[in-house]
Amino acid sequence: MENTIFENDKKYIANTYGRFPVAVKSGKGSIIYDVEGKRYIDMGSGIATNAFGLCDDEWNKAITDQLGEYAHVSNLYYSEPQVKLAKLLCEKTGMKKVFFGNSGAEANEGAIKAARKYASDNGKPSQKIITLINSFHGRTITTLSATGQDVFHTNFGPFTEGFEYAPANDIAAIKAMMFKDGKVDCAAVMVELVQGEGGVLELSQEYVKELYALCKENDILFIVDEVQTGNGRTGTLYCFEQYGILPDIVTTAKGLGGGLPIGAVMLGAKVENTLSAGTHGSTFGGNPVCAAGAYSIISRIDNKLLLEVQAKNMYIIEELGKLPGVENISGKGLMLGIKTKKPAKEVISACIASGVLVLSAKDKVRLLPALNIPMDILKEAVEIIAAAINN
Ligand SMILES: *Cc1c(COP(=O)(O)O)cnc(C)c1O
Repeated sequence: MENTIFENDKKYIANTYGRFPVAVKSGKGSIIYDVEGKRYIDMGSGIATNAFGLCDDEWNKAITDQLGEYAHVSNLYYSEPQVKLAKLLCEKTGMKKVFFGNSGAEANEGAIKAARKYASDNGKPSQKIITLINSFHGRTITTLSATGQDVFHTNFGPFTEGFEYAPANDIAAIKAMMFKDGKVDCAAVMVELVQGEGGVLELSQEYVKELYALCKENDILFIVDEVQTGNGRTGTLYCFEQYGILPDIVTTAKGLGGGLPIGAVMLGAKVENTLSAGTHGSTFGGNPVCAAGAYSIISRIDNKLLLEVQAKNMYIIEELGKLPGVENISGKGLMLGIKTKKPAKEVISACIASGVLVLSAKDKVRLLPALNIPMDILKEAVEIIAAAINN
């Protein structure tokens, strides 16, 4: 059966993914079974989407209850699951309004549109948005344009104009791009606080604080892409909390839906009314089933769970950090990148063979387990990962 799936996938599905040789049959929590009945511990949670693992009971109930009411209505009508979720997100973050889309890229498109419209509404001299080198903001042409990695820029031009890339953690360099002849020369700055696809690289506290202050003083919008870092992943509900800032726009997706597609653009006080009627929209955005699932996720990311995420972070760093085969570990919470002496590819293959699904980010082994992964299962996974690194 497995071979037929592999062959038919290759034959009928656009070959855009370098897939691992695992055909998933079912899962529960942090355990996945493949079509041959092999058991895996899931240390990737669908790239940080299955916040509470697979087939989480409460999440399942929330979405099936909503399916029994209605699966979709047009955004031309009011929908309670969307309203409940937006209210919860605003209350928990201090943001003012939410626009819902279906993915991270779409959320970032919305943020970029909001930033440009804010600049236009306020007669700003520049529509330029500065992002960081090594960032990742999505796969649409505009979010690819925002992505500061040349590897993504071959073959797909012409690109959306108006983006410039600054080196991360270098305040002088970005400042030189933000101002021209002493005057503001950009509309917004957009950053990931921990660059995920770029290799799990954190922005420093000083850099973010200085950059945020510069933006605030000069009415430049500060946009944080929390598509991956959000929703409890880094040990706080949103990563920006750890930097003592309140961004003008926060985008998120991945873990928000707990395994169903939903993205959100959270708009702060400055831009809460920028996207006015008719200026933006989405047919499926904020789908009631996805929104009901997301509500069940966000309402359960409480202090107790976040402390567990932080404790698991320390456990993993302690156990793997002491291995001679590990050069360093970066990241926050349960978003970790392990630089191994051995090529990451070899470690990942060995892990898969031994029943642990891990990911990569650039040259690192990346761990993104479910936030609620049970401690005994995490221990089992860490032992297997350690063996894969050492052998
Ligand atoms: C995954 C990711 C995206 C893109 O999200 P999609 O849902 O795949 O469109 C954007 N930004 C960051 C930081 C991401 O990690």
